[in-house]
Amino acid sequence: MDFSWSTDQEALYERGLAFARNELGGGPGKDGGLQRATWSKLGGFGYLGLSVPTAHGGLGLDALTTVRMVEALGKGCADTGLVFSACAHLFACVMPIVESGTETQQRELLPRLCSGELIAANAISESGAGSDVFSLKTRASRDGRDYVLDGEKGWVTNGPTADVYLVYAVTKPGAGFLGISAFLVSRDTPGLTVGSPFKKMGLTGSPISPIYLEGCRVPESRRLGKEGQGSAVFRRSMQWERACLFGSYVGLMERTLEKCITFASQRVQGGKPIGKYQAISHRIADMKQRLEAARLLLYRACWKLDRKEDAMLEVALAKVAVSEAAIQSGLDAVQIHGGSGYVEEGGVEQLLRDAVPSTIFSGTSEIQRDIIASRLGL
Ligand SMILES: Cc1cc2nc3c(=O)[nH]c(=O)nc-3n(C[C@H](O)[C@H](O)[C@H](O)COP(=O)(O)OP(=O)(O)OC[C@H]3O[C@@H](n4cnc5c(N)ncnc54)[C@H](O)[C@@H]3O)c2cc1C
Repeated sequence: MDFSWSTDQEALYERGLAFARNELGGGPGKDGGLQRATWSKLGGFGYLGLSVPTAHGGLGLDALTTVRMVEALGKGCADTGLVFSACAHLFACVMPIVESGTETQQRELLPRLCSGELIAANAISESGAGSDVFSLKTRASRDGRDYVLDGEKGWVTNGPTADVYLVYAVTKPGAGFLGISAFLVSRDTPGLTVGSPFKKMGLTGSPISPIYLEGCRVPESRRLGKEGQGSAVFRRSMQWERACLFGSYVGLMERTLEKCITFASQRVQGGKPIGKYQAISHRIADMKQRLEAARLLLYRACWKLDRKEDAMLEVALAKVAVSEAAIQSGLDAVQIHGGSGYVEEGGVEQLLRDAVPSTIFSGTSEIQRDIIASRLGL
């Protein structure tokens, strides 16, 4: 077992971290739209195609190096919403095209998705189908060489600005896992409309909205994978997302920890820095322990993905560990910073608000625990 990174991986990480710190503005964006200029910068560096083969315009990294790079992005970029949007684009939309797209789909879309020319959004969840994706109501009915899509999707990250939507719809009602198909729907397709962006408690730089499909005609050539393979495409995309996207929360936790150590060393109460009180120093020690434990689980999950082995258990363990550690880390940071941690001006409460949804998206903690339990034979 080798816990070290290669010289090339180290150098790439340092470049990614410097880029994230210096080139991405260092502040949360505004709700309602991604900045195209910033998106192009992410593409220019290679962040939108980390795990995409070089032949398609990506950096061609394995999952382990990819997660390390996402960690650099999460640590360096203060706008965790932007990081989340970039990861949702790459892992839930671009990777499915890499793994299941036709040559034409790959040629037409991948270079532009990697360069930052296009923004992608993943649309599966509906108001009545969240954790239970098999109760989707959106239908795709065959009509000659087209499909006609009808339905609505509830929470579509990047929805307000996306150019292409990966939409999951039922092609064979009652067939469960095999009844769902995936479609690449362009924003300008008649019958597709984008709803108003939601306001949310965190990840403010990541716009999210519903989308509506009404008689939305999509050619067969835009189906991703075979008919009935949508669930498999989605499941695989969630493996990428639950593993690699969560590198951003490892990076966020590292940034939070550093902020807490600095504050605890400088803030003097009762004649000494608060970090000299065991109540504070042990809380920080626990933050470090939780971060490192979660990080190792995440690396192991990515290592297994790279070996092309079944990684359902490892990915679920990592997802729960990273997301729950990130929320605890945000709570600890607020507590350590006292009143200045609670007010917006301190820049600390935002760390907590950005962490809270991580136990909900990409499959809730409860669903991950179900996966873990089922892998244990329960
Ligand atoms: C910031 C953010 C971004 C998102 N981005 C996207 C996106 O880009 N595309 C997209 O399609 N969706 C997106 N979602 C939606 C997300 O995938 C769903 O919110 C998530 O799958 C949970 O579904 P739900 O909200 O309907 O909750 P529900 O499934 O209704 O769950 C409510 C509660 O019940 C629990 N629960 C449900 N079923 C079970 C069960 N069988 N056993 C035990 N407990 C259960 C859940 O764990 C949860 O605690 C996003 C959500 C958030 C918060």
